Amino acid sequence: MRFLHTYICIVIKTALKILNIFGVVLLAFSMQCCSSFSQQTNEIKTSTMDSLKKSGAYSHTDTTQVNMSDDEWKKVLPKDIYNVARLKGTERPGSSEFEHSKEIGTYYCAVCGNALFRSDTKFESGCGWPSFYEPISKTSIIYEDDNSYGMKRTEVMCGRCKSHLGHVFKDGPPPTGLRYCINGVVLDFEKAKDAEKKYNDQKHS
Ligand SMILES: [Zn+2]
Repeated sequence: MRFLHTYICIVIKTALKILNIFGVVLLAFSMQCCSSFSQQTNEIKTSTMDSLKKSGAYSHTDTTQVNMSDDEWKKVLPKDIYNVARLKGTERPGSSEFEHSKEIGTYYCAVCGNALFRSDTKFESGCGWPSFYEPISKTSIIYEDDNSYGMKRTEVMCGRCKSHLGHVFKDGPPPTGLRYCINGVVLDFEKAKDAEKKYNDQKHS
C-alpha cells in the first residue's frame, strides 16, 4: 500500500513537472507570437504613414482637404484601417489600446493626421471604444445622419479626409453631454511630451 502511495506521488510529481515545462514553453511561444505580431503591426503602420506622407495626405499642420479615390485609399491603407475609415466598418469592442489609455496628448486621424481630440476630453464610457466628450475644434469633425441597421444615429467623420471615425451619442458627461464613440484603429496618438520635444528641436535646428 505504502509502495503504491509513493508510486502515485512520483507519477503526479512527474506529470506536474511536464505540465510546468509545457506551460513555460507555451507562454514563451505565445509571448513571441504577440511581440512579433505587434512589431509587424507597427511596421505596417510606419510604412503606411510613409506612403501617406509621400502622397501628401498625412500631415499634422496642413489643413487643406484630402480628396482621394477609393482605389487610391485601398492601395495605401492597411485593411483594418480601410475597413473602418472608408467602408464605415466597426472594430471589435474592447480591441483598441486607446480605450483605457490615460496618456496626455493629442489624438489625430490615422488616415490624414488631422487633429481630432485632446486627451483631457477623453473619458471611460465602458462602451468598448475610446470615448470623448468634445472634438478639438468645430471643423475637425463632420456630422452626418446615419439610419443604417434600423437605428437613428449621427455618424462622425474626419473634417479633413472624410474618413468614418464612429458615432456621437447624447449620453455623455458634462460639459457637453455628448459621447463621441470612436474606433481606435482610425486614431493616431502623440504624447504631449513628444510633441513639445519635436517643437523645441525644430525651433533650435
Ligand atoms: Zn482624416
